[in-house]
Amino acid sequence: MIDLGDSILTPGLVNAHTHLDLSHLEGQVPYTGKFTDWVSHLVQQRNSLNTPAESIITIAAENSLKNGVTLVGDISYNNSAATTLAKTPIRKTLFAEVFGLGSTLDIQENYLKNCVPFHHSDPLYQQGLSPHAPYSCGPDLYTLTAQIAQKHHLPLTTHLAETLDEHEFLTHGTGPWKQYLQKINRFPSDWRPPSRSPVSYFLQLPLSNQPFLLAHVNYISDEELTALAHSPHHVAYCPRSHRYFQHPPHRFNDMIKAGINVCLGTDSLASNASLSILAEMQYLHQHLPSFPPDTLLKMATLNGARALNWHNKTGSITPGKEADIIAIQTPETTTPPHRAILHPNATVIKTMVRGIFSAL
Ligand SMILES: [Zn+2]
Repeated sequence: MIDLGDSILTPGLVNAHTHLDLSHLEGQVPYTGKFTDWVSHLVQQRNSLNTPAESIITIAAENSLKNGVTLVGDISYNNSAATTLAKTPIRKTLFAEVFGLGSTLDIQENYLKNCVPFHHSDPLYQQGLSPHAPYSCGPDLYTLTAQIAQKHHLPLTTHLAETLDEHEFLTHGTGPWKQYLQKINRFPSDWRPPSRSPVSYFLQLPLSNQPFLLAHVNYISDEELTALAHSPHHVAYCPRSHRYFQHPPHRFNDMIKAGINVCLGTDSLASNASLSILAEMQYLHQHLPSFPPDTLLKMATLNGARALNWHNKTGSITPGKEADIIAIQTPETTTPPHRAILHPNATVIKTMVRGIFSAL
């Protein structure tokens, strides 16, 4: 019996889009208005790393648990989180990421197939696959990844419609992405733009109706939003990272109204101040107080669990599911609990994953 005092119990929070292996880069990669400069800087910083990736990922996962995140959708370079997080009692879908705009896919295919049998005895572990983004992966690589995922029942994710540069690259084949890919020798000379905007391009790829978790979707037209609502895909919105890159307001509310499953992510600490989904919720509430707090909690829990294919086990406090539950203490006592946890000083005091308290 544990007395948690005056606190509010909620389902464990879900960070549906993050890159834990970049957690040493907090405050290290300033954004100066050009996304490809930020990416270039990020890659340099990652390559000059002295700290072992394992310790960065382990500390980031412990940090997530401390912040009430019981499930992460993580993308790590070289799938490095797969071995590391097997030792950490956090629930996870770990996406192995591939890159390649060209049509030669042997290396990527071998890599993806090597990731597939990576089964652990860890009941909190699930492997996923991720073609990085439409400006770094060609249609053949998307199709191949979706086929492998379908065969092995693995969830999928990709970055989509993140910047206007991506839009320019796909519609005209020009702009900062072309220059950057040429600079790093990743631009195949025979590549031609699909002449479509990112969302409409993605939606016409032959992906056999495999659901993808689409990270960001910052730029989407009304027609594309309607088409997305008729697809099986989910959207991960990363509010504070979105602000970091100064994008125009995200259309998450329009997406929800259209019936799209929208969940929350922090993205990496290279564009955010913490790995706390509660902080994302509090930030959103502060900027959009009229948005219903119960919908916000659902975005932070059940919607993320659905997007990561864990909804049969977690995402809500329901008989038959596993007990991923957190306790939140808040100075706000007069308002309904959904709203009280959105007080800026509300904090997570206990985290339980699969019935076991995390040592914080
Ligand atoms: Zn990302």
